[in-house]
Amino acid sequence: MFENLSTALQKTFKNLRGYGKLSEKNVKDALREVRLALLEADVNFKVARDFVKRVQESCMGEDVLNSVTPGQQVVKRVNDELVELFGGAHKEFDLAGKPASVMLMGLHGSGKTTTAGKLANRWKRSGRRVLLVACDIRRPAAVEQLSILAGQVGCDIVKPEPGETVPALGKRAAQLSCEGKYDVVIYDTGGRFQVDDELVHELKEFSAETEPKNTVLVLDAAIGQESVNVAEAFRDAVGLTGLILTKLDGDARGGAALSVHAVTGCPILMTGSGEKMEDLDPFYPDRMASRILGMGDVISFVEKAQGVVDQDEAMKMQEKLMNNQLDLQDFLGQIQQMKKLGPISNLFDMMPGNAMKLDGKQKEAMATASELEMKKFESIIQSMTPHERRHPKEIDRSRRLRIAAGCGRKLADVNQLLKRFEQMGKMSKQVKKMGKRLRHLKKFT
Ligand code: GDP
Ligand code: MG
Repeated sequence: MFENLSTALQKTFKNLRGYGKLSEKNVKDALREVRLALLEADVNFKVARDFVKRVQESCMGEDVLNSVTPGQQVVKRVNDELVELFGGAHKEFDLAGKPASVMLMGLHGSGKTTTAGKLANRWKRSGRRVLLVACDIRRPAAVEQLSILAGQVGCDIVKPEPGETVPALGKRAAQLSCEGKYDVVIYDTGGRFQVDDELVHELKEFSAETEPKNTVLVLDAAIGQESVNVAEAFRDAVGLTGLILTKLDGDARGGAALSVHAVTGCPILMTGSGEKMEDLDPFYPDRMASRILGMGDVISFVEKAQGVVDQDEAMKMQEKLMNNQLDLQDFLGQIQQMKKLGPISNLFDMMPGNAMKLDGKQKEAMATASELEMKKFESIIQSMTPHERRHPKEIDRSRRLRIAAGCGRKLADVNQLLKRFEQMGKMSKQVKKMGKRLRHLKKFT
């Protein structure tokens, strides 16, 4: 999502940056292209118009046009306005209550139940005790779906009893959650195909019983302009403390979803970009802006890595690597951590668009190749004895043949792994040497 918008904006700014000096006309022309790119990406008409107007006003001053780098200045102003458009500062859930409570709402299929599971997973990982409440009693499979997710995540769930109404269920769950056993309770409510009186009535009654601190709309970013209308309808009917945009991994244009804060004034709290429990990220307006402008969402990747990688462990690894003490057991550990970060193609998506001139297919191919190689290496190391993993140098030809047979790979594959490992060792030696030289140089500067 947002790839086309990103490409169009980058192209415009590349042209603009080529000028040593900018006239008002240059800026106006560029901003006209920006507006077209926004509309093309399905950004709300009024939002696009006001956006361009604001950027234009901020760019017409002497400080921009007569600056040494006028093109960059314009890009900076566009970036700043984009950040504002997406909500300015990052907003969090209010998790202060004892327990904190979150009511998820939305249309059918918007991703409420999946998101309930993802939130539970996220908060459980940060050490909170989470209770899920299955409030969608109309769809027969809905309770079962949440129940499976609760099992996966490893948290408790409250299910409706036969004949129980939704508000009664809410009341029962709210009481249970207040007994001190939980830090967060998440209500997964039922949806409709559209916002209607029945839904509004049900949600109002439910929220009166449960008094949730966070009333959050789960919004499918792929439904286009309708998303803005849906958000307005929910906001006016029930009140919203925030939004979660789902399905950002799809190939819809997504611009409407980006307009949703500007139109409704509700903060976007998180975004979903896949069906797995890990595919939920906090929404940072500044990072989204830099991702769209093609500066790469490096920070967001670093954060994701921090959640998966144990910091102490990482420091130890780094030290081992620098001292060339890394063995194959460590190597295996690293492969397994990489796998936890999700598909490699997702990681590629985080990197700046210009850093690697690869199109979608090439990225996909590269990602698949790396994943296959990791899988291969993993199986080979797993077929080694603990002693062999600690002492790779002792793995001679007969051991290699045995290892290859053990994991159903070829001798050449085993050789490739050992070679790769050896190269890693050499590289770390060089890095260490370079570090020493740098320290040496510093003394003189
Ligand atoms: P609900 O009716 O609002 O509870 O929606 P569900 O949670 O049942 O989700 C509907 C479908 O959308 C399911 O197939 C989910 O796996 C899928 N889904 C939810 N969130 C995402 C997402 O961020 N990305 C993708 N690709 N699929 C999602
Ligand atoms: Mg559901």
